[in-house]
Amino acid sequence: MMEFYRDTWAEIDLDAIKWNVEKTIEELDPSVALFAVVKANAYGHGDVQVARSALQAGAKGLAVAFLDEALKLRASGIDAPILVLGASRPEDAHLAAEHRISVTVHDEDWLSKVYLKKGLLLNIHIKCDTGMGRIGLKTKEELRHVAGQIDQSDSFVFEGIFTHFATADEPETNYVEKQLEHFQHLVNSLSVKPPFVHCSNSAATLRFKGAGCNTVRLGISMYGLTPSTDIAPLLPFQLKPAFSLKSKLVHVKKLKPGEKVSYGATYEASEYEWIGTLPIGYADGWIRKLEGQDVLIDGRRMPIVGRICMDQCMVRLPKEYKTGTLATLIGRQGNEEITMEEIAEKRETINYEIPCVITSRVPRVYI
Ligand code: PLP
Repeated sequence: MMEFYRDTWAEIDLDAIKWNVEKTIEELDPSVALFAVVKANAYGHGDVQVARSALQAGAKGLAVAFLDEALKLRASGIDAPILVLGASRPEDAHLAAEHRISVTVHDEDWLSKVYLKKGLLLNIHIKCDTGMGRIGLKTKEELRHVAGQIDQSDSFVFEGIFTHFATADEPETNYVEKQLEHFQHLVNSLSVKPPFVHCSNSAATLRFKGAGCNTVRLGISMYGLTPSTDIAPLLPFQLKPAFSLKSKLVHVKKLKPGEKVSYGATYEASEYEWIGTLPIGYADGWIRKLEGQDVLIDGRRMPIVGRICMDQCMVRLPKEYKTGTLATLIGRQGNEEITMEEIAEKRETINYEIPCVITSRVPRVYI
């Protein structure tokens, strides 16, 4: 286990990740392959550890956003198929080929800029833009052109075709249906279909069982988080969150009425108050907007008071606690729980963003 010398850490429950993957696979037709999306350091959970757990649980491959992330996984000894979902530079394609990393072709000109040494093979997935408006080919003509380029080269292997839904996490399904129809139209226009055809993120995997494709790309729900609160009741099983954030009181003191806390001296004790200091701050991703947010100590909710500093923040305690007492900022303590969604709401964002922005200064501990 990694050594660290501070009293704040994130605990990652790899069994929860395995369980979420296994339960998802049970929901799918046995012919459907699951790719685990481990981009952005596995949504802040730790890419290598999550990748290994997902593969043990039955994932057939991994997906990342950038070539750098794929190379890191390869360097760690992971041998499974890896797909780079985002745009790679054509001049870096040889690196992908050398490391058996599959790349995404997202525009018509990309392949014409690729030069590979004889004997190197580049695995290619074609990305179709069916309504996300991000990257990808839009028409049958573009698709035919790229498929033809692949066909005419000894260096290119047509491994997959995919698209990405913009609204699979919303109760209304019209837009998803439109995108799917467009995707099917594009796929059906190919004379030869590649082995991997995929369109589903977590929401579409769990709600539409992969939407008739033979591969799915599972991200957020592998981490035990619902793609959106709106569709939580529509999911086939209760996910198990894998990420919790913990700290310990490093300093406890009693303030007199009128004494102040933190920068700006904006918080003032109205009576004799116990204040505890936690060694976590905005440089850990625990941003100033979280002032007022509760943390769990002794199984109870207690608020952060005063401005959050770069490395520390202060909590109002109902009584004296010893330094070293555990504080849970995300996760469960006793009967109380602070969910990723609660933090997301406070920060006016989505649950996806929260573990991603807990910075690398917070050690990840695997349980
Ligand atoms: N596929 C692509 C192309 C993505 O960009 C993402 C994540 O943003 C995913 C799959 C995984 O989505 P989710 O985390 O909603 O399962």
